[in-house]
Amino acid sequence: MHDAGALPRDLAEENESLRASMAYMMEQAERNHGIMCRHQAFDLEIVGSDSFPSLITTIFRSLPVISELDIVTLSLVDEGEDIRTVMNKLGVDFADFPHLVFVAASGALGFVPSRSEHTGPPKPMLGPYIPATHQPMFPHPPAGLQSIALVPLLRNKRLIGSLNLGSLDPVRFTPSMGTDFVEHMASIIAICLENVISNEMLKYIGLTDSLTGVYNRRYIDRRLIEEISRARRQAYRISVMYIDIDHFKTVNDTVGHQGGDEVLREISARIKDELRVSDALGRFGGEEFVVLLIDAELDSASMVAQRIRASIADRAFDLTCGLSLPVTVSIGVATLDDFARENPVEGVAQVLLAQADSALYKAKQAGRNRVIAYHPERA
Ligand code: GH3
Ligand code: MG
Ligand code: MG
Repeated sequence: MHDAGALPRDLAEENESLRASMAYMMEQAERNHGIMCRHQAFDLEIVGSDSFPSLITTIFRSLPVISELDIVTLSLVDEGEDIRTVMNKLGVDFADFPHLVFVAASGALGFVPSRSEHTGPPKPMLGPYIPATHQPMFPHPPAGLQSIALVPLLRNKRLIGSLNLGSLDPVRFTPSMGTDFVEHMASIIAICLENVISNEMLKYIGLTDSLTGVYNRRYIDRRLIEEISRARRQAYRISVMYIDIDHFKTVNDTVGHQGGDEVLREISARIKDELRVSDALGRFGGEEFVVLLIDAELDSASMVAQRIRASIADRAFDLTCGLSLPVTVSIGVATLDDFARENPVEGVAQVLLAQADSALYKAKQAGRNRVIAYHPERA
């Protein structure tokens, strides 16, 4: 006979096991809830990123922590190196992002279309880490990397890259696992990446000259103000060069407007070849260029200007129309000598440009194809 209050033994056992599985489910639910909250916070953070570097910094910093991964890398399709060129121009240093990999075409990401007719979008690939195959996606793998997930980053069915997740746990990613969660995560990351990349492209377009690819006046004006402020704080020299092509009207008359445009592009390239990466070259409209030289005194800036002048004058310009044309430039150089902090920086910038311009005017008057430096005492 059973005790009146007691359950039959098999029922008690069932109850016990139900309790245990309830407890387990509760624990899982709590854990999943925690993961979800962390992922929601992550989603909010990446959606709020306003630049390419801040987005990828967040991905590389936060994703391994919230997803308990040992490595996260990103492969991005960058045809024609457009993304790298623009980011470089905007001052991004890719050495800061060792886990960011660029590939020239989406085929190099290693995904296969999901259906045999090659119509479906690629699916994530989960499984063991095989160095021979996966090292390109993980240029700096942690020791003992065991399992990985390569998740396609898709925008409007276009493969823009892959999110690569890695774990030291061999069963963290296996081919039979569901992929809804990682695909969802990748879809948000893909949207954010596309957004910041197009924003950076717009920023770049707003700061560059479409004909020559060098900076435009807006950028140079802004940069000059920043550099003057910095030069005041850190007491280094900055110099500017005003460059104007000699008799450019005649160039246009001889080879047409298109030939003139070709000359403008070639001049930009030759000027750039003589500059350091820290210097900034801008086209100020028409056939005038301005160069900012950082940490350069008047003498060294004048030497660079002489090199530029010679590199243009010494070699004729071979145009696509078949003509070969000699071209020269005149250059005015001036250096910042007003370090008084009480003077408004905008005014100081204008004075500096005006000094270079007045030296340029003298170079024109003195016969062109020459460099003249502005000396306040001789002005
Ligand atoms: P100078 O030696 O005194 O500088 O003579 P210049 O003929 O260069 O004189 P100026 O600076 O007044 O002339 C600039 C000419 O540049 C006028 C215009 O026809 C031409 N120009 C301005 N912008 C462009 C452009 O985007 N493309 C081309 N092809 N020509 C341009
Ligand atoms: Mg001019
Ligand atoms: Mg001119």
